[in-house]
Amino acid sequence: MASQTPGSGAPITTDPYRQLLDEVGAFVYTTDLDGRYTYANQLVLDLLGGHPLDAVLGKSFTDFVDIGEAGDTLRKTDRRVLELGETIAREETNHIHATGESRSYWSIKKPLRDASGAIVGMLGISHDITEKKRLEDRVRQQKELLDTVLDNIDGLVYVKGADRRFRYANRHLADVFGRPVEQIVGRLDSELMPREAADAFWEKDLRMLATGERYAGEESLVDSEGRLRHYWSVVVPWPDFNGSPALIGLVTDITELHALKEELQRQVRTDSLTGLANRRSFQERAESEFARSRRHGTPLSLVAIDIDHFKRVNDDYGHAVGDHVLQDFAACCQHALREEDLCARTGGEEFCILLPDTDADAARVIAERIRLMTASCRPCPEHPALTITASFGVACVEPSDPSFDTLFSRADRALYTAKQQGRDRTCVLHTESAEPAAPHTASTRHAAQD
Ligand code: GH3
Ligand code: MG
Ligand code: MG
Repeated sequence: MASQTPGSGAPITTDPYRQLLDEVGAFVYTTDLDGRYTYANQLVLDLLGGHPLDAVLGKSFTDFVDIGEAGDTLRKTDRRVLELGETIAREETNHIHATGESRSYWSIKKPLRDASGAIVGMLGISHDITEKKRLEDRVRQQKELLDTVLDNIDGLVYVKGADRRFRYANRHLADVFGRPVEQIVGRLDSELMPREAADAFWEKDLRMLATGERYAGEESLVDSEGRLRHYWSVVVPWPDFNGSPALIGLVTDITELHALKEELQRQVRTDSLTGLANRRSFQERAESEFARSRRHGTPLSLVAIDIDHFKRVNDDYGHAVGDHVLQDFAACCQHALREEDLCARTGGEEFCILLPDTDADAARVIAERIRLMTASCRPCPEHPALTITASFGVACVEPSDPSFDTLFSRADRALYTAKQQGRDRTCVLHTESAEPAAPHTASTRHAAQD
């Protein structure tokens, strides 16, 4: 059927169907009942070693190709086609000794029947899928690598589609939701977290999907065990595998860092000896309370306190006892106050109390209560003779006060007056009054005083 054109390597095929089969890009052959070739297209001939068709007809595959033990399987498969009339489609791998390489084929084998329906042989069509398999193997390996990396990095990774459903979740994210990965992929965010949190995330997601802009910021979420966790979240818009818009989330758990930050912030605002607010946080709160009082026309009072002759406590009992006295005094003040009041240590043995919604009279009552408690208690059980007193200056915000500092200096002047008038007393100073109001005193004897 095929002949050679002189001077050209290309075979001339006179039969158009044969030519078609040679060009079809698959191995096509037929065999008789004994597995001997009755037809083989050009690709088969090339595979068998480049023999002409005449040299192949009547011979079987294993006459040309040594496939070792795989030959048994091949023969069994062929028998199922030839004897049982089954159609078999399966992957086959042949080791080609000539080239030393393994090649994979997708092979379909069907029985050939004559006009009466009797099986007379086999029709085989095989596609070389070696390259496709290599590619698949590479993709699989890369996926395994990616999964291993993503499941072992110390962060949460997800892909969420524009339909609000998760496309991908790594193991850490699954742990946070307390479900296996398979129960996350395909689910709506609102099925996996509280509705309110899911809606807040989705609002941000929608903005990113609309603008295509990356987001980075702090977020928090209650995990499956009910613990509030804090995250640093980076979300990147990305067209997913189908080209539809999606978001990749890369989230780092910063709960411990967050706690550390909060502790540092607390420390920055707290006096380490007494645990009270320090001067800086007192000033901040005082200014906001001053503004609030201005806005709502509510009273705001300030009590400035200085422990009397405190230097002598140190001198007579030592610095450690002095520290203890300061702690005891701080606790005593805290005990006498409401939650909305703020007591701060503003200096060595100086304290300030901010009293929102409290007028001067009520502030004086509170100051007096603390003064009497101070004078009557024994702050140090090891030194029963040690008692202390303190002086108190009270002022209440006036409509003419331009700032909190004005209120502060009035309370400070009232304190100065209390000191001048003999200590262990409370003085109140109003703007209108040139002189502070009559001080409240007590005859309490204090050991640290002359
Ligand atoms: P006055 O009645 O006039 O207020 O007399 P005072 O002795 O209390 O006042 P002065 O300002 O002379 O002394 C304050 C003392 O407070 C001096 C300092 O040694 C002491 N002091 C300041 N900070 C601390 C502290 O953290 N611990 C201790 N133990 N003492 C402190
Ligand atoms: Mg002082
Ligand atoms: Mg003092």
